[in-house]
Amino acid sequence: MLRYIINGSSGLNQQNVLSQLTNNDEALQKGVHVFYAFYEREKYINNLLGFITEGLTKRQQVIIVDKIDIYEEVIEKLTTNGYKKDDIELIVFVENDTFYLTNASFDVDRSIQMLKDTVSLYLEKGLFLRIWGQVSLQMDEPAVSKLRLYESRCDEVVAESKTIIVCTYNGLIVPAYIQNEMLKTHEYFMTDDQIVLSPFYRKENLNPLSNGEIRRLQKLDKDITFLQDQNKKLQKLYDEINRKKSIIERSEKFYRNLIEELPVSIVITKNDHIVYVNHTGIKSFDSVDIQGKAFSKLFDKTTSATKNGLSEYKLLLPNHEFRYFAVKWIPTWFEGESAALYILIDLTEQKLNEKLMVRSEKLSIAGELAAGIAHEIRNPLTAIKGFVKLLEDTSNEIYLTIINDEISRIEQISSELLILAKPHSETLKVTNIVALLNNVKTLLDTQAILKNIEIEILSDRKEIYIDCEETKIRQVFINIIKNAIEVMDKGKIIILTKKLKDFVQVDVIDQGTGMSQEMLDKLGEPFFTTKEKGTGLGLMVCYKIVGNHNGKIDVTSQVGEGSTFSVTLPLSSWAN
Ligand code: ADP
Ligand code: MG
Repeated sequence: MLRYIINGSSGLNQQNVLSQLTNNDEALQKGVHVFYAFYEREKYINNLLGFITEGLTKRQQVIIVDKIDIYEEVIEKLTTNGYKKDDIELIVFVENDTFYLTNASFDVDRSIQMLKDTVSLYLEKGLFLRIWGQVSLQMDEPAVSKLRLYESRCDEVVAESKTIIVCTYNGLIVPAYIQNEMLKTHEYFMTDDQIVLSPFYRKENLNPLSNGEIRRLQKLDKDITFLQDQNKKLQKLYDEINRKKSIIERSEKFYRNLIEELPVSIVITKNDHIVYVNHTGIKSFDSVDIQGKAFSKLFDKTTSATKNGLSEYKLLLPNHEFRYFAVKWIPTWFEGESAALYILIDLTEQKLNEKLMVRSEKLSIAGELAAGIAHEIRNPLTAIKGFVKLLEDTSNEIYLTIINDEISRIEQISSELLILAKPHSETLKVTNIVALLNNVKTLLDTQAILKNIEIEILSDRKEIYIDCEETKIRQVFINIIKNAIEVMDKGKIIILTKKLKDFVQVDVIDQGTGMSQEMLDKLGEPFFTTKEKGTGLGLMVCYKIVGNHNGKIDVTSQVGEGSTFSVTLPLSSWAN
């Protein structure tokens, strides 16, 4: 009895692992049915070559059922090894898919019928048969029950006809549970290099297969179908996840690029630590290296959130200047963790422009006032000169008093002008607005008198306090009253001051030309002016300053009768 065969390989014929078995008379008497699980193509081809050449040598009928490319390679090898066309024509070849499949599905009955017909055809001719068949397996068709049935009946054909049948399966793709079933239906098990008796082969169990066995195999097919379905679903899910992942990755990339290229500065922080700054940010923060630093330490909050949700922050630059930003923040995610995204709009330029605007308007007012003041100063000076002349002769108390009065008037006017020219301190001071209005009156009287205009201050009390940047509020009233003077020929300007619950209201009432609705709508627009030498900046600056003090300006007007500018400012939280 053949137990175990290992074949050393050298030369064409010796490489046939099968040859010892196919030359063994004892084995041949029963017929030889081999299950060959192959792994390496080259060895497979060599084994097939050995199988064919041995058959040709022994004048046996060789039948090959395999893939066309394998057969073509074998024929080529035979030709180079000197086999003639006549020899090769003795080999019968059938493509394996044609032999085993019907409509891409393994067909047991037809395959067995074809096998039986072939075998009996050649047996009748008195030929000894050797058949090599690579069984076609459709991976998506669970066919263990069919294969098992086919191979059992094939085993029967082998026993009856005493032929050699080698059934080959690709060991790399045929699953182990099918290979195990094949070990039960073939007496011999072969790999590329070895051949042994199959430990599971029991002839008595094969024909016919018991009902229980058929049920077991069918259940196996069902289980596999279920697993395959499950697998397909998982694959679908996996594909879907992959698809979504790539969409997410794409959109993430898009947003990253967008944020990177936005013309506003973007800063992302985790627990207040700066983890990301976009391109504009890096430019805008100058040489300040802010990566990794604490946001709240670098950026000083100067105002709390306003109505559009923006707060103002400033950043100290290495050159000791400040850069100002309007900032809004939103919660976000950064690299899988919660984070804060800050959007910073650079206000530095805008602030600078505002400052310049206030300054230029102030300079223009100061310039205009200076002319009037020069005139106003000349009068007391002429008087002083006259009285000094008189004093040279006599000494008179009345003259001295007049001189004193005139000198203090010069003093008062010039000091008012100086206050206006003083740089803004930008700090809030508790200020008596009634006194402030009186001072402004002093300054503007010089112009008013020239045009025969009287300025009158009406107030229910002498002291009303507000918190303000004094020079700026002064600038507001100078402009409003000056505008009033400029639209009147003669008459009276009344400055009416009322203390309300939380506010002080100052009405500047003139008897000037008045304004149409169209003009009223344009008030406060930069460069809107009807005057030849006007700047059109005065009211804009007024609105800005009063707005910054949390106050407002309302205007009512009647064409031909006059206008009223009502300035409302919050009372001081310290005094009153
Ligand atoms: P400017 O005085 O340089 O013209 P303003 O901003 O101070 O600039 O004023 C803008 C315009 O508003 C003036 O040119 C004038 O036409 C109009 N206006 C301002 N105040 C009055 C007023 N009291 N009565 C009528 N028109 C006024
Ligand atoms: Mg003006």
